[in-house]
Amino acid sequence: MSKAPASKKPQNLDQDQFLTILSREDALARFEAVLFPRPIPSEPRKVADALGFALSEDVTAPIDVPPFDRSNVDGFAVRSSDLVSAGEAEPVRLKLNDEVIACGTAPARPVLSGTATPIATGGPLPRGADAIVMVEHTQPSGPRAIEIRRAASPGQFVASAGSDIARGEALLRAGTIIGSREVGMLAACGIAEVAVARKPRVSVISTGDELVQPGEGLRPAAIYDTNGPIVTAAINENGGEARFLGAIPDDEAALESAMRRALAESDMLVLSGGTSKGAGDVSHRIIGRLGKPGIIAHGVALKPGKPLCLAVCDGKPVIILPGFPTSAMFTFHDMIVPVLRRMAGLPPRPDAKVSAKVPVRIASELGRTEFVMVSLVEGADGLIAYPTGKGSGAITSFAQADGFLKIDALADQMPAGAQAEVTLFTPYVRVPDLVIVGSHCTGLDLVTAPLARAGLTVRSIAVGSLGGLAAAKRGECDLAPIHLFDDKSETYNTPYLTEGLELVPGWRRMQGIVFRKGDARFEGKTAQEAVRAAIADPACIMVNRNQGAGTRILIDRLLGDARPDGYWNQPRSHNAVAAAVAQHRADWGMTIAPVAHASALGFIPLAEEHYDFALVKSRKQRRAVRAFLDALASEEGRAALTKAGFRPA
Ligand code: AMP
Ligand code: MG
Repeated sequence: MSKAPASKKPQNLDQDQFLTILSREDALARFEAVLFPRPIPSEPRKVADALGFALSEDVTAPIDVPPFDRSNVDGFAVRSSDLVSAGEAEPVRLKLNDEVIACGTAPARPVLSGTATPIATGGPLPRGADAIVMVEHTQPSGPRAIEIRRAASPGQFVASAGSDIARGEALLRAGTIIGSREVGMLAACGIAEVAVARKPRVSVISTGDELVQPGEGLRPAAIYDTNGPIVTAAINENGGEARFLGAIPDDEAALESAMRRALAESDMLVLSGGTSKGAGDVSHRIIGRLGKPGIIAHGVALKPGKPLCLAVCDGKPVIILPGFPTSAMFTFHDMIVPVLRRMAGLPPRPDAKVSAKVPVRIASELGRTEFVMVSLVEGADGLIAYPTGKGSGAITSFAQADGFLKIDALADQMPAGAQAEVTLFTPYVRVPDLVIVGSHCTGLDLVTAPLARAGLTVRSIAVGSLGGLAAAKRGECDLAPIHLFDDKSETYNTPYLTEGLELVPGWRRMQGIVFRKGDARFEGKTAQEAVRAAIADPACIMVNRNQGAGTRILIDRLLGDARPDGYWNQPRSHNAVAAAVAQHRADWGMTIAPVAHASALGFIPLAEEHYDFALVKSRKQRRAVRAFLDALASEEGRAALTKAGFRPA
């Protein structure tokens, strides 16, 4: 894919280097100093359409609620002074007035001494009456009278006018976000329209020649635009009104005109990508031409998120988020959300925080505030925060994480065992019922499916077999899926177990050689023959596996001393091997049967790998663990595994 040449020469060469990297705090302070204070535009809105908006003015109650003294029960309106002497031995007889006060009926007759008027819950108190007697506490006494055997205090069962909301009272304050409760208060006062802060209109643009919108087909070398939907949703979640304008190729002229149009029609512009110093990264160069003062910060000491670019063009914030989705998301939430909420008239977002222990050492770059996503797990004494990061390009780390912790710019690590403050992504902690830490396998999802249906939450953290085993030994998970071959005993998994762990047999995964169907070097051969043919052909390229993988041991045995082209390409997953072969970057490799079949590749079976579970004995009786063991042994579970190409143990 060729990049279009820049249409104009950059006018300010300074902008092409991260000459000054600002600290997170400094960058935010400078950005806010240029943007605020600023008036928050207000608009009238029907209450029915105002959900989620912030009030821009205080609302004062225009009437009393209730508007009149009213009865809280079904009964009789009386004068309490008539009942002073009433008791079990001394009933008082009251004559009934000739009307019934239903809800919505204005009373016509007064309650004179010695009389009572039937009244329904919500009915207005008639003149003269000062209390209500419940119907249950009366007895009929002839057709037009009642008998009462207990005294009534003045005001009994009466809600007086303005007792709920008093006229002139400040009902709701400016800045309050309108939810169902606020709608109720406004409705009770008869208010149908309010003044709200107009949501800032925010235009969103993704940049990059490689981007394709979800729903469209993926062409070679392209990826789906992830930032566009993320940023659009995050803006709407934080009080903005997002308008997504699609992905613009890395063409300076096309991008500049799109940015100019977007900025003219909105209050704020958020781009992503093109902020690094790579060839074709042009968006930051355009900003200097869009308005004053231009770039405020380009390069912030954040990790992830260093290439963040903050600018203000003629009063409107223009932001370029880093291209990698995780970096884009973090910088958006940390640096942009505060500004957006202020522009929207909203209070700062309330972040829920918990304290949790970090089980492993987390290295950190000195000089940058580092955010580390963590998954929370219930440990023996309190919460444990597992780092889930897969690098700034990964998106699943967000889905698996419950929150993040921050490592100070001045620290080069967070030591194992440290107690950290975790900012939650949700308002409350929800620790999973079942925690699986170790090697991931698609078969796992099949076995855990019934648990999800039973309302049990399962968290699977992929850290590889050895990492899982270590977590199990520390008691930080329920189960550790492992597939570790022991050379000495020539057996799988059992030799790796220690005190406190027991082996739960899982399933077998057939490993073998993958190739593109129809390739004569492999088709119809045994694994040994196929590898011999591959080594003999200098044009043949292999894809290997990482050191330490069980699959790697098999490959090395097959190859002996041979080091064919591609040997040093050592991806860390079964899927990466299949992708390399399917995309013609390699001609053969070794993976498991289900993965080969899912990619419609040819497969030569070689040996079965044992995928089992190290179970933490002390956790065996937990409900979720028992549910997992049941699911693993169930007919349904075994059938699902078999269908996907695994062989249940
Ligand atoms: P850039 O800053 O444009 O060089 O992008 C850095 C990385 O982020 C590249 O791998 C891009 O493909 C990726 N990237 C940029 N924009 C997006 C996007 N909207 N969605 C997903 N990935 C992106
Ligand atoms: Mg790009």
